[in-house]
Amino acid sequence: METKLSLYNTLTRRKEAFEPLVEGRVGMYVCGPTVYGDPHLGHARPAVTFDLLFRYLKSLDFKVRYVRNITDVGHLEHDADEGEDKIAKKARLEQLEPMEVAHYYTERYRQAMESMNVLTPSIEPHASGHIIEQIEFVKRILDEGFAYISNGSVYFDVEKYNAKHHYGRLSGRNLDDIVLNTRELDGQSDKHHSYDFALWKKASAEHIMRWPSPWSNGFPGWHMECSAMSTKYLGEQFDIHGGGMDLMFPHHECEIAQSTAALGHDSARYWVHNNMITINGQKMGKSLGNFITLEQLFNGSHEILEQAYTPMTIRFFVLQAHYRSTLDFSNEALQAAEKGLDRLMKGIDALDKIKPAATSTANPADLEKRCAEAMADDLNSPMVISAMFDWVRTINSAVEGKESFTAEDLATLKAIFHRYAFEVLGLKSEKQAAGGRDRVTPLVEMLLEERLKARAAKDWAASDRIRDGLAAAGIRVKDRKDGTDWELE
Ligand code: ZN
Repeated sequence: METKLSLYNTLTRRKEAFEPLVEGRVGMYVCGPTVYGDPHLGHARPAVTFDLLFRYLKSLDFKVRYVRNITDVGHLEHDADEGEDKIAKKARLEQLEPMEVAHYYTERYRQAMESMNVLTPSIEPHASGHIIEQIEFVKRILDEGFAYISNGSVYFDVEKYNAKHHYGRLSGRNLDDIVLNTRELDGQSDKHHSYDFALWKKASAEHIMRWPSPWSNGFPGWHMECSAMSTKYLGEQFDIHGGGMDLMFPHHECEIAQSTAALGHDSARYWVHNNMITINGQKMGKSLGNFITLEQLFNGSHEILEQAYTPMTIRFFVLQAHYRSTLDFSNEALQAAEKGLDRLMKGIDALDKIKPAATSTANPADLEKRCAEAMADDLNSPMVISAMFDWVRTINSAVEGKESFTAEDLATLKAIFHRYAFEVLGLKSEKQAAGGRDRVTPLVEMLLEERLKARAAKDWAASDRIRDGLAAAGIRVKDRKDGTDWELE
């Protein structure tokens, strides 16, 4: 079935038919986490949104190179050009090397993503591993005349850039608004104007993360890594740049300015932004007491949580809203997502219970069409889910004998559910997600039954063989008065 993807491009503020630069291939860059703290609810939404896009593009047979960076240097407190590096601060407080902090939280992030069935990107470059590329990029901007050196730091000259290109076009601002909304410099700064931003910062004496450069021992500005690494891995022009809406200004605006200044043209063609998650209608923030880490969600340990929620429930919850809509988190909404996911998975399982009939009362092509059209329409995952729910009702009727399907239609229906629920939406049944115990239960129960029979026949050798075999597989058998129990080691 021919479906043409249309994506909402933040740069042009309209839905556009997606045409990749090179036929059959897609280059996609997404701003990843700054690794100085545990992954939290706010990380779940961009991760799941761009995983959905990645999975969907692959399902359309595109060869996708998906680059998602790890920010491990240069992200200063409050995202401004001033303040301590977030990772260095954590390292100072915990008496660790900054790279220990970055490594630990990178691993925590990866584990959380894996549990939500978020696929690993094609490349996951670290900012600290691309200092040379960033220095070279700063040099190009200086050579083009859009930056100036001041006391060992290099700043982007926003006014000069704006005279030739439009600074603020992604976020829909112009320089006059930006001037009005930024406070005046206090005379202490090396910048010419408050809206100029750092491309390279000279390190102060206490700043531990530093590298040599032609201008000073210092470190790159936060926005620089994405311009340098996207160019390195995807080329001077690439298809899609994604990230959360909160990154649109200043981060993505500055990225566009840097890349345009250095390369003379736009680099990313489609800018895709996911909307934010609110909690009971409020913005998430440490000061509001509603800052929830993913681990707390998965084990239910935060005080505002009524229960634990599985990683799949969180994924399903995110997918139930369109990525450009706000998504409000509440216990009620998550419990509804939990029920909904369970209903969907049971519906898919129920397909196996339907006995094939001579004729079909409904056409699976309807489900295929609805899912394909919804996904092609700017990744409308809620519409895909609603089409699947309609069909779950049909399946349940068929189990009760009120609808019927031929063997061929049943196979088609299974394939469609498999494609959209598992491949594209990336859902897993909780049984699959739990891995471990649930997956081996039927096998263990069967062996324990055999062992019981052996014991009844006083065949102690066979009984021990089964027990030892299970032990070798990490399954400990415990004989009790009232029967046999087992556990995974
Ligand atoms: Zn970025």
